[in-house]
Amino acid sequence: MNKQEKIEKIKELTSLLNYHSRKYYTEDSPEISDYEYDMLLRELVALEEELPEARQSDSPTHRVGGEVLKGFNQVTHSVPLESLQDAFSSDEVRAFDTRVKQIFPDAEYVVELKIDGLSVALEYENGIFVRGATRGDGTVGEDITANLKTVKSIPLSLPEDCPPHLIVRGEVYMPKKAFAKLNEAREENGESLFANPRNAAAGSLRQLDSKVTASRMLDIIVFNLQKVEGIEFSTHAETLNFIKRMGFPVSPYYTVFKNIDDVIVEIARLGEMRSSYAFDIDGAVVKVNSLTMRSALGSTAKAPKWAIAFKYPPEEKETLLEDIRINVGRTGVLTPLAILTPVLLSGSTVGKATLHNKAFIAEKDIRIGDTVKVVKAGDIIPEIVCVVKEKRPENAVVFKMPESCPVCGSKVVSDEDTPFVRCINSECPAQLSRRIIHFVSRDAMDIEGVGGQNIERFVSEGLISSASDLYKLDYAAISQMEGFGAVSAENLRNSVEKSKAANLDRVIYALGLRHVGQKTGQILAAKFGTMKALAEASEEALTAIDEIGPITAHYIRDFFANPHNITLISELEAAGVNMVYKSDKVSDIFAGMTFVLTGTLESFTRDEASAIITKRGGKVSSSVSKKTTYVLAGSEAGSKLTKAQNLGVSIISEEDFLRMVGENV
Ligand code: NAD
Repeated sequence: MNKQEKIEKIKELTSLLNYHSRKYYTEDSPEISDYEYDMLLRELVALEEELPEARQSDSPTHRVGGEVLKGFNQVTHSVPLESLQDAFSSDEVRAFDTRVKQIFPDAEYVVELKIDGLSVALEYENGIFVRGATRGDGTVGEDITANLKTVKSIPLSLPEDCPPHLIVRGEVYMPKKAFAKLNEAREENGESLFANPRNAAAGSLRQLDSKVTASRMLDIIVFNLQKVEGIEFSTHAETLNFIKRMGFPVSPYYTVFKNIDDVIVEIARLGEMRSSYAFDIDGAVVKVNSLTMRSALGSTAKAPKWAIAFKYPPEEKETLLEDIRINVGRTGVLTPLAILTPVLLSGSTVGKATLHNKAFIAEKDIRIGDTVKVVKAGDIIPEIVCVVKEKRPENAVVFKMPESCPVCGSKVVSDEDTPFVRCINSECPAQLSRRIIHFVSRDAMDIEGVGGQNIERFVSEGLISSASDLYKLDYAAISQMEGFGAVSAENLRNSVEKSKAANLDRVIYALGLRHVGQKTGQILAAKFGTMKALAEASEEALTAIDEIGPITAHYIRDFFANPHNITLISELEAAGVNMVYKSDKVSDIFAGMTFVLTGTLESFTRDEASAIITKRGGKVSSSVSKKTTYVLAGSEAGSKLTKAQNLGVSIISEEDFLRMVGENV
């Protein structure tokens, strides 16, 4: 990579990691495994070390945790809740030891389990639990006292000889068994599943209704003394003993070592016992024992220099790849799926794993009959890591993507710009069902009362053969179908009727054009105003829009060039589906302007401020650049404000903003 490419990579990694951080910390629903996240982060750290001047102001390498959720009061931590430096090999643990021993040759270490949960601070005044908060960004967290009071192992009062003021830090977790039960119940109720116990714990703790938290069987392990008045300690081990005496649950496995070799043996031992703990762990933490040495060693921007977290690699198992089956998706993509001999992995049985596409299979040289190594990415999605070549039987079969669609039998084609193979028969029942399932989905036409299975049934029984048939359903016949009754058929009718009024952006999204998600749907609807104008738009007119690139423009043109799609749109229109954009625009006063919001606003939330701007023709961006017109800065504005000052971008206060809007908002 040359320098320019490295700078681009830094920007790309920063925004990718920030996206995944938000998913993980704020929304509690990660899309990639922790291991993958950590590897991306490492890549960014290395590039930033090489080119410190290219570090972005919102780099995740200098930030702890996530944002504070709306709905909770903020708590400023009197002692910051730091993160930890991590290590993925014994060599990195040894390097940590060398750094410490250079300053303190006789340092001792405590090795503890690293519990995978949510970090909280618990504060006691005169022995009474007065406040509990999440880590948040390390400095400011969310006040979740009411919810923490429902965690039975957190003492609400301390023994009589307790200090007048005490703050401890611990990890709230959901025991593995409670997690399994919770997900089972959610599956039965048709609710979305939690990815892993950590996300389940975080989601349960950050509930506005503490009754929900109470039902979730959370537990805690306290691992640090943050602040105490009136008692002096000299080592971490002493503080843990004290914490235990005060009635807090402390990790059952912590030991003091002098020698780094013993530390490494202990890390391996704790890792081997991983599946026997009642809670999930993601590593072992090595901490300098002496508190005086700790203060002397100090901290970096986000983590103490006196501790390191060894992260265990994701659990890996071998199993047999019995067969490869093909799934046909909404856009006709044929996805190979590995059928595995079921194997217990990170707490659940895995029998299938996606093989993504033919390039993935070729790159890993995966054959039917092979023994493969599987991991569960972040305890979420089973992935094949590699083939165990030594165990390959002679009769292992090289897989070839089928030449015809396994569902409709028509010839498949290879994409030019992706490694995918596609069935291009738009009448293919597999695609048809999936397209209609997408059409009715919540973010599209939001038609309730027909789930995926019903759509598949309607298609296979010939009740519908396109999305427009949804508007001609025979409700009398449906009310007689198994699983339906008069009430559910009536509900379906109401929902179908309601969907006719959906705004154009939803209709465009519902049609399922390749590369056209919700946001692009909105952009196209706002720009062209009617489906007709969009259908007639030239590729040039499409690429003239900032957010639309040549590939998307090409797919949009392709879609409208297909007579089947034009027929579908006319049928929908004839059925009464809205094809016009109803703009919620109030005026054009901010046309051509880009705003960046930062800090805490008093009169409205950030979402409300964004809506005020977009309804007046302006754009809202998340990062400051030379193109930014105004930075709207609330109180406690951070790095974005500094960047705006450096770039000479105009900074406005909330009062200035209200004056600009010049009306009641
Ligand atoms: P971290 O989880 O690596 O380490 C710090 C945390 O460890 C502390 O907050 C503390 O609460 C906890 N901890 C548990 N037991 C402890 C003990 N005995 N002593 C001290 N601390 C203990 O760092 P982080 O900043 O919280 O987050 C990074 C983690 O989050 C990484 O594992 C990363 O993979 C994951 N993450 C994943 C995604 C994703 O998309 N999958 C996104 C963002 C972050």
